[in-house]
Amino acid sequence: MAEGSKKVVVIGGGTGGYVAALRAAQLGASVVLVEKNALGGTCLNRGCIPTKVLLHTAELASAVREGESVGLFVKGARVDWKVLMQHKAEIVARLVEGVGFLLGANSVEVVRGNAVFRSPGEIVVAQEDGAVRSLSADAFIVATGSVPALPPVPGFDLPGILTSDGALELDALPKSILLVGGGVIGVEFASVFSALGVKVTVVEMLPEILPNMDAELVGYLRQILEARGIRILTSATVKAVRLTEDGYATVVATDAEEEIATEKVFVCTGRRPFTQGLGLEEIGVRTERGRVAVDGQMRTSVPGIYAVGDCASPIMLAHVASAEGEVAAEVIMGRKAAMDYRCVPSGVYTAPELAGVGSTEAELAKSGRPFIVGRFPMNSNAKALIAGMPDGMVKVLADKETGEILGMHVLGPRATDLIVEGTLAMKSELTVDEIVATIHAHPTLGETVKEASLDVLSRALHLP
Ligand code: FAD
Repeated sequence: MAEGSKKVVVIGGGTGGYVAALRAAQLGASVVLVEKNALGGTCLNRGCIPTKVLLHTAELASAVREGESVGLFVKGARVDWKVLMQHKAEIVARLVEGVGFLLGANSVEVVRGNAVFRSPGEIVVAQEDGAVRSLSADAFIVATGSVPALPPVPGFDLPGILTSDGALELDALPKSILLVGGGVIGVEFASVFSALGVKVTVVEMLPEILPNMDAELVGYLRQILEARGIRILTSATVKAVRLTEDGYATVVATDAEEEIATEKVFVCTGRRPFTQGLGLEEIGVRTERGRVAVDGQMRTSVPGIYAVGDCASPIMLAHVASAEGEVAAEVIMGRKAAMDYRCVPSGVYTAPELAGVGSTEAELAKSGRPFIVGRFPMNSNAKALIAGMPDGMVKVLADKETGEILGMHVLGPRATDLIVEGTLAMKSELTVDEIVATIHAHPTLGETVKEASLDVLSRALHLP
């Protein structure tokens, strides 16, 4: 560490941790990052990136299958799972290497090993080579992430039961799979597996899948997924799983009890913050149900110790983890910074994609705030039609009096890219008038956002 500069030690090299390390280094800190596994954490190694690699091939497979209607004839097309896994490994390795390169370029020292707090000002790291190293610092940033959370259901501990980690390392594609949990991870995997030819069943305890997204668009997405052959059971509870000769039998209770036979069972019922064995409680860092308690500037209850990402955040998403990492680094380095959770976009990478930012229609209705909804269907947009993806809709929610954008929700092609416009609009407190006054390029999917905004003002140009 350079003498004289502030010393910052980051524990965990996932999205939250490595971004915090980079930002602290940019601001002049001497930074050490401790990581016990691969750099890049869950997102790069077992989350966002590998799942989207599978999704891309699934999309190509669907496009080829449906290609004849647009004049594309491909004989003998098939998905080779082993090649796909190799491709996924290469993309992951390249990005992980990129993180290492960036850390090196910013003079961040990477220490390989497991960190444990000895006191509020010191950690000990059991290094991979067996050596034990002590590190002291002016500030620590805890970014130890999360792990899959399995409810105590009989059979969830059977050999071969999958979580997202295992589902991304399968030797071969199964013929059938049952996903327990209809949240983002479950629905994304359902979409991918189905597109790759796997028979998919989703079991969700709540009355609807994706409970935090806009209900109208979720209903629309559900219809699309079901029309594709995915069986979705809601208000349904998994009672037990047992091994059979061909895989597993899962007892599911809805109005009646049913036993569903599948080759694989994949439990995706959520994730829990990972702070075990870190010694946080011993040094007085307050946790709430396993989550590190932090304020808006990512400070824990112990001065000098900060926490970011899945281990502390109210929202377990990579872009939230990195935003929190930046905030923690800036606060440590004496800058004014605080987290703003008001407009965090969320994306569901199904085909078609679903994305949202800000309030949903149901939330606004409940709040009593007067609002107007503008809608525009994807099948009235030239680019969506050209892409052969006419399913979906853009919804813009605006304050009835001022026109301020309160939420935007998109189902359709590249919804997770389109949501950027709504996020920027919300962050900048823009009104629908300002969106419609902005020239949107033609032909683009972005025109749907302008048209939905025009619909708020009851003057959509491309609606009857
Ligand atoms: P992590 O990425 O989990 O990193 C924590 C790191 O800390 C790990 O590398 C771990 O080895 C290390 N560590 C833990 N304890 C110690 C210790 N004592 N000493 C040293 N090192 C330690 N988010 C999105 O925004 N978009 C998506 O599309 C998306 N898709 C996902 C798909 C799946 C299947 C999953 C599981 C998650 C997905 N996420 C997605 C969520 C995203 O991956 C997480 O929000 C993000 O990785 C959190 O980053 P983090 O830095 O908090 O933790």
